[in-house]
Amino acid sequence: MDAIKAPRGTYDVLGDESWKWDRVIGVTRGAAADFGFKEVMLPVFEHTELFSRGIGDATDVVEKEMYTFTDKGGRSVTLRPELTASIVRSYLEHDMRRRSQPVKLWGWGPMFRYERPQSGRYRQFVQIDFETLGASSPLADVEMIDLSMEIYRRLGLSNLQVLLNSVGCPSCRPAYRSTLKKHFESSIHELCDTCLGRLERNPLRILDCKQPACRALTDIAPSVLDSLCDECRVHFGEVTRGLERLGASVKLDNRLVRGLDYYTKTAYEILSGELGAQNAVCGGGRYDNLAENIGGPHVPGVGFASGVERIIITMEAQGAYMGEDAGPDVCIVSSSPDRALEAASLAHELRAAGLSADMDFMGRSMKTQMKSASQNGAKFVCIIGEDEAASGTVSVKNMSNGEQESVERTSAAENIKNKLLWR
Ligand code: AMP
Repeated sequence: MDAIKAPRGTYDVLGDESWKWDRVIGVTRGAAADFGFKEVMLPVFEHTELFSRGIGDATDVVEKEMYTFTDKGGRSVTLRPELTASIVRSYLEHDMRRRSQPVKLWGWGPMFRYERPQSGRYRQFVQIDFETLGASSPLADVEMIDLSMEIYRRLGLSNLQVLLNSVGCPSCRPAYRSTLKKHFESSIHELCDTCLGRLERNPLRILDCKQPACRALTDIAPSVLDSLCDECRVHFGEVTRGLERLGASVKLDNRLVRGLDYYTKTAYEILSGELGAQNAVCGGGRYDNLAENIGGPHVPGVGFASGVERIIITMEAQGAYMGEDAGPDVCIVSSSPDRALEAASLAHELRAAGLSADMDFMGRSMKTQMKSASQNGAKFVCIIGEDEAASGTVSVKNMSNGEQESVERTSAAENIKNKLLWR
């Protein structure tokens, strides 16, 4: 029988690197607190309608990429492909409009999209996600972009580029759509097959195409900024002014449209020079109509999501500090399997005293136990040999300088704690 492997597009985070993830989430959590965001934990699956209405039926995510199935009660449910729609759903369901506005929420966890796997693109991936709900001020957009950059700064990332655009709103976008459609129709034979399909349904998505012929056409396409209504133009001006004031280096990119239909006004992406084809480390923007699209009242919102795998790939490529795989404070080494029970009770006491402790279960020789304690990065070793057992003592060895001391078994925890303070 063939061994069962993890499904395509998924991966295992093993124990010798899961601490890197802790670092990214820990730094994110710290930044979230500093910017006044509260963490939420939401279901991994939702009613399919939340995404089809929220993200938009004509988007790649909804049309092709969702993990949708019928549950045993006959309901159509979907593994969440992103978190924004869920957070807005939760805001509405718990009537957070009654609270002081805006409500600033963040979350993180696995998302699911049936995409073609490649480096930096998975079918299950982890996002950190931030949303400010109930504020239409452009300063909320500025804060969101600032927050994403601050997280990357704290993680030690460099060589990032912020791309900014406005995608207008339902009052000015239709005019831009038809201007754009006319522009592409005049060179229709040069469009790739995918873009031919987009021409009727969503010509803005053509701006996103990476095919050289389509790119040549988008290079000379009319800019959305020339079609914005007064409200969107003023909003965009204030966002760019706010970012300038913060000293943020931002590049305007008229081609940036984003793959999810709910965006209005501000759209932005942050690219990493280290990621190759899948170079977006972060994507976000404003979505003033999402709450209404899923059956709620008008609730303006702005947010971003960032892929943790891509953050880690960038950190590794740039040699950023990723935390460390901290070994235990103490490893207990005993002289024979007869002493294993003694070792287990010492480990219990050390842990109860607040130390991290490990011991051998395999009946290995003292030499092998010492070797594995050193390989595991133990800071101290507690030796229980024949002499120690007879005299009610343990030998405490400092693994960084080799110094060894005999101490009363009952004061081992205090002794090691003191030594840890002075390391
Ligand atoms: P989106 O939700 O499409 O706006 O994407 C936001 C961010 O999530 C991107 O900039 C990526 O960092 C990350 N991301 C999106 N899709 C994937 C995927 N299939 N695999 C890994 N990361 C992803």
